[in-house]
Amino acid sequence: MNLSILKKVCIAVALVAYLPVNALAWGQTGHRVVGQVADYYLTAKARKAVKAILGGETIAMASNWPDFIKSDTAYNYLGSWHYVNIPGGLDQNGVFHFLDTDREANVYNKIPELIATLKNKQSTADQKKMAIRLLIHFVGDLNQPMHTARKEDLGGNKINVTWFGQKSNLHRVWDEGLIEYQQLSYTEYAAAINHPSKEQLNQWSHDSLKQSVYESYLTCNKIYDKTKADDKLSYRYNFDFVDTLNEALLKGGIRLAAMINQIYA
Ligand SMILES: [Zn+2]
Repeated sequence: MNLSILKKVCIAVALVAYLPVNALAWGQTGHRVVGQVADYYLTAKARKAVKAILGGETIAMASNWPDFIKSDTAYNYLGSWHYVNIPGGLDQNGVFHFLDTDREANVYNKIPELIATLKNKQSTADQKKMAIRLLIHFVGDLNQPMHTARKEDLGGNKINVTWFGQKSNLHRVWDEGLIEYQQLSYTEYAAAINHPSKEQLNQWSHDSLKQSVYESYLTCNKIYDKTKADDKLSYRYNFDFVDTLNEALLKGGIRLAAMINQIYA
């Protein structure tokens, strides 16, 4: 093999090594950003309680466990806990009524059960560990707008688009594509977006679960309006939605911290 061919082979190998690996919902990075932001806002009491449950595992790293366990069929029953499918075209009362009456196990009606497990003094260490890992993850999911989206297209999974020329779908663009495009580690990302106004911090720390779902729903409606099947998404989509994305991640982290702080208040 002459030198120039060897050079080409090396470049090809290097390029393949840099291709992104196939990631899972909100993506590892998105969930870790939410966890890292939450970490900034924990009270001393809550921090101690979380450490007693998770040991050396950080909130950021614990956030991915509920996606990793999808590879084990024993956890299949948790599948629908990651989202809530809400029909399009509802106003606030309609969404609230839907949430009150939807009998499917979903992210909205399971979060209070996880909080109850964490508050219950009879819960075992294992039960608490599982509950907090799930809570950390699902509060992240709840703030991913395509996790409060429509059933008929599986939360955008059936809306095929391209993302910078690669086959993707609307759900995946929001789980991963937009986030990975920012090219930040999760710690860099969390630090970069951690600038809520006093009003935002106060508001998001006190929003009810219902209100949080409703806001995600409003955002997903905007996304549906602006994204159609076979759209070729790239620079302009990032420009139009990066602020929405960053606010969703920041809100998720602040809301998660508020929830954990309240459990251990
Ligand atoms: Zn999830």
